[in-house]
Amino acid sequence: MLVVMKPHATPEQVEAVVERIRTLGLTPHPIPGTQRIAIGITGNQGGLEPDLFTTLPGVADALRVSQPFKLVSREVKEEDTIIDVGGTSLGGRELAIMAGPCSVESREQVLETAHAVKRAGARFLRGGAYKPRTSPYDFQGLAEEGLKLLALAREQTGLKIVTEVMDVETLPMVADYADVLQLGARNMQNFSLLKQLGLARRPVIVKRGPSATIKEWLMAAEYVVSRGNYRVALCERGIRTFENMTRNTLDLNAVPVLKALTHLPVLVDPSHGIGLRAHVAAMARAGVAAGADGILVEVHPHPEGALSDGAQSLTPPEFEALMREVRGIAQAVGRSI
Ligand code: PEP
Ligand code: MN
Repeated sequence: MLVVMKPHATPEQVEAVVERIRTLGLTPHPIPGTQRIAIGITGNQGGLEPDLFTTLPGVADALRVSQPFKLVSREVKEEDTIIDVGGTSLGGRELAIMAGPCSVESREQVLETAHAVKRAGARFLRGGAYKPRTSPYDFQGLAEEGLKLLALAREQTGLKIVTEVMDVETLPMVADYADVLQLGARNMQNFSLLKQLGLARRPVIVKRGPSATIKEWLMAAEYVVSRGNYRVALCERGIRTFENMTRNTLDLNAVPVLKALTHLPVLVDPSHGIGLRAHVAAMARAGVAAGADGILVEVHPHPEGALSDGAQSLTPPEFEALMREVRGIAQAVGRSI
């Protein structure tokens, strides 16, 4: 249920509603808006009587939320969520450009990439220190050493760091180094990890599971938000289909569909989405044209020698060229970089 306060409701009136919700053994989620404050309620098994709240002073209305994903739905919050990442925004008019290697491999590799993507206009450096690899014999990431290199790159460039957290055990350490935590596609329904991310003090990018429906994906985001971490973004990274000419099928349908269903920022990862360097730029442009709030792109100074995902990594000059194109598209759809 969503309790909508009157535009001029006082803080005391809001507090009284919050208190009533707590007294019922439920969880209040105050959602500030430009016009008025609303308070989402979670924890109830069945429906609640609107009278429980509409009789309190300052309350305009109490509405049932029809979607199973409550707090992330547009029904509960009409305005787009803009996540503040230490002074840099994720969501809103300015596109969030995130770029960097699939894996952090060495000091030289990460610093060279960081400086290059920064020059080209990226505001976030992506790079994995803990890698979810299909084969146990493949490079698994540099672990904390990789996180330290990312922190060094941040120091030198001012870029915000986006890096994957793979499990509950390493979450506190990864959160110490990261500005934004990436929940990998393979972990989208790791419910213990989702619950802990709900308590984390960092924004979270929830990547879409390779065979997750949009609804399941939104429910994963709901896990995080319902635990109190409202700084969540979604990232479309391609789904499994019968098509095998490409690594995955980038589901660009998801972008406008999500923008209608949720207030959370929506990112597109064209690298994992198509898996082929030659076509990554086309899908990045398409993602921005479709209304994405940003892109997550793999860039490597020497893709042919990359320890993971070289085949889909752009070189720095390719990324720079892409950024020039994306600037034009951004402008055409009312966005900026
Ligand atoms: C990655 O971003 O390098 C990655 C492993 O992505 P995904 O979880 O989408 O496969
Ligand atoms: Mn990758």
